Amino acid sequence: MFDLPAQRAHLSEKYDLTPSPELAASMTDIYDRMSRVVSPVDWAIYAPYVKAIIDLKAERNAVILGHNYMTPEIYHGISDFGGDSLQLAIRATEVEADVIVQCGVHFMAETSKILSPTKTVLMPDMEAGCSLAESITAEGIEEMRTRYPGAPVVSYVNTTAEVKAASDICCTSSNAAQIVAAQDSHTVIMTPDRYLAQNVARDVPQKNVVWWEGSCIVHEQYSASDLRDFRRWNPGTRLIAHPECPPDVVAESDFSGSTSGIIKYVTDEKPEKALLITECSMASNIADELPEVEFVGPCNMCPYMKKITLEKVLFALDTMTGQIEVDADVAVKARQSVQRMIDLSRQLGI
Ligand code: SF4
Repeated sequence: MFDLPAQRAHLSEKYDLTPSPELAASMTDIYDRMSRVVSPVDWAIYAPYVKAIIDLKAERNAVILGHNYMTPEIYHGISDFGGDSLQLAIRATEVEADVIVQCGVHFMAETSKILSPTKTVLMPDMEAGCSLAESITAEGIEEMRTRYPGAPVVSYVNTTAEVKAASDICCTSSNAAQIVAAQDSHTVIMTPDRYLAQNVARDVPQKNVVWWEGSCIVHEQYSASDLRDFRRWNPGTRLIAHPECPPDVVAESDFSGSTSGIIKYVTDEKPEKALLITECSMASNIADELPEVEFVGPCNMCPYMKKITLEKVLFALDTMTGQIEVDADVAVKARQSVQRMIDLSRQLGI
């Protein structure tokens, strides 16, 4: 469990973290990336943390990976790279850093460690989990193999290292349909997200896609009737859904795509009003880059992602605590599943 008072006492002894409008004013180059969604008052509170983290990052030769679902002060304030989990892990392999700080959830930090085994990977809060990753274990994969003998197992990257190691290949929400279609078997097992699997099954009718019953607690909360009501009350709004949403929600939307697919769609189309049917911070993090688009609610927050705060990032970097370890044999097998996906994606030109 996190000992927040002790953590705060430790930080206040070493850093001046008093809110500072003067410091905030000297860091407008950073603030300009989030000024539409972060108030000046909040920025004055965040600025001392952002400054301390940026200084410490240089001292430790660290890079910070910020997932799209991080809050704007993390995503724009301290991250060297922003993106989805796999984009981030791949970017981290390309830099000469000693330390990776994962601003995301635990399975993402594991993926970074799998792909960068010699780097120290820090997780600012070990309790930042994921309902999808926690829904299945390596035993669950074996159970599916027994139920569907000979069928390949395609696991979403939102899984633990052990599950990746027990699978044949990984997929992301942007390449899932193509990875499934390319399998040399009529029946294909998809884990752990039943909704992603059902959406893929619709797009790849030539395959018999079977799935594990996991789901994302953020995306499963949306319903098709909510979307119909929203459309009736807010005519002209473009509805854009992530494929972790139930299939009837995806069917009600104007576009469905992965986080990077959603960003590309909104950037290219620039709709006057857009409702992103995904995690709340997605819209916040692109709002300043797209001033012509009005992002409207409702949205759902991921409680796991929101466990990551500036304070916890500073503490992890200062004390070098929260180091991620992955068993060497598991890491080798998990890396193979991820690498197979990367190689196949390249081969398919995705
Ligand atoms: S948004 Fe869903 S899939 Fe992503 S970390 Fe949260 S629970 Fe997991």
